[in-house]
Amino acid sequence: MLKVLRSSNILWAIVFVIILIICILWIYMPWKDSFAAAEILVDGELYMTLDDISGAEKEITVTTSYGTNVVVYGNNEVYVRSSDCKNQTCVNFGKISKPGQSVICAPHRLTVRICGAKTSDTDI
Ligand SMILES: [Zn+2]
Repeated sequence: MLKVLRSSNILWAIVFVIILIICILWIYMPWKDSFAAAEILVDGELYMTLDDISGAEKEITVTTSYGTNVVVYGNNEVYVRSSDCKNQTCVNFGKISKPGQSVICAPHRLTVRICGAKTSDTDI
């Protein structure tokens, strides 16, 4: 009986250590960047989710009743390549690459933001 108890304690200790390692890896996540995603919002509502922005550069044209923005994503970066808005602030804003950052095109009510692993609690 004692022997059984001891071996099950060791088993629990091993399980505990494994869980601990998974937790530590989850918190630090060295591969976090490869999971970066981006969201395109129009009028505060989700227009499109770019699931993975770590791959090769891709271009997407967002046309709404406000106007057209050409959004480029890839290599863990997102930027607005061109826009027919008046002020061109979104084009001049440049590239964003970190979760939480966003490019805003006020005349077109467009927001492009990068979200990390946690998408639900990132604010604009
Ligand atoms: Zn703009």
